[in-house]
Amino acid sequence: MAETPPELVREIGLRLAVIQRKVALAAEKSCRSASEVMILAVSKRQPLEVIEAAYACGLRTFGENYAEEAAEKITQLAHLDDIRWEMVGHVQSRKSALVAQHFVRVHSLDSLKLARKLDAVRSNRAALPPLEVLLQLNVSGEASKGGFLACESGQWEALLPVAQEVRSLGNLRLTGLMTMPPLFEDPEFSRPYFRRLREARDYLNEQIPELGLKELSMGTSADYSVAVEEGATIIRIGTELLGPRNYTKEF
Ligand SMILES: *Cc1c(COP(=O)(O)O)cnc(C)c1O
Repeated sequence: MAETPPELVREIGLRLAVIQRKVALAAEKSCRSASEVMILAVSKRQPLEVIEAAYACGLRTFGENYAEEAAEKITQLAHLDDIRWEMVGHVQSRKSALVAQHFVRVHSLDSLKLARKLDAVRSNRAALPPLEVLLQLNVSGEASKGGFLACESGQWEALLPVAQEVRSLGNLRLTGLMTMPPLFEDPEFSRPYFRRLREARDYLNEQIPELGLKELSMGTSADYSVAVEEGATIIRIGTELLGPRNYTKEF
């Protein structure tokens, strides 16, 4: 293994410290504890040395978007045996087996068809615990965004049978919700979307108490402080933590 460049480790360590401080401030502002917020390092389109440098800074959980790119990196980094991988991008049905094999959590569960598929392929992995999943909600109504439509509270009732069915699948474990709001210049504009995701989670828990949904995966480099103020338990940070994405290898 090539040695990880020390200046890269230092750079990521400094960025991580800044993010942790901002998370602590945002948590304090909303009377939460920063320990309730996990920083997921989104390493899509980042080369191995960046992931190794982030690992050297103490980061253990990485988010990827593309199943094949991720599978290759995961194989190459198998010597880092306490590293955990989470899928944050849309999963095509035919990539379900790859995802079920390599990941501990899928943030982007966007159809029942995918849930059934993931459940079936995870069942072939008897040594692994159930695959943790989050329902991806489209809280903006943008046609370009994936997820179950949930931009108005009138649409939330339709999520109840979805949550019930996912909960009934023995090889999946439903623990929360994820969203990706529209991209704004001003992070304040993301606030109503984050709030809506929190309200949707609270609604589902009220209607089906045994769901006990806890996780809210929301907020990226552009708007994670606002997301933490609105209750994020997982923030998904790419460029602000790992630097610009410049990895051009095609998968
Ligand atoms: C790329 C990506 C992120 C990270 O975005 P940054 O702006 O680099 O922080 C977070 N979530 C998802 C779903 C992504 O695809």
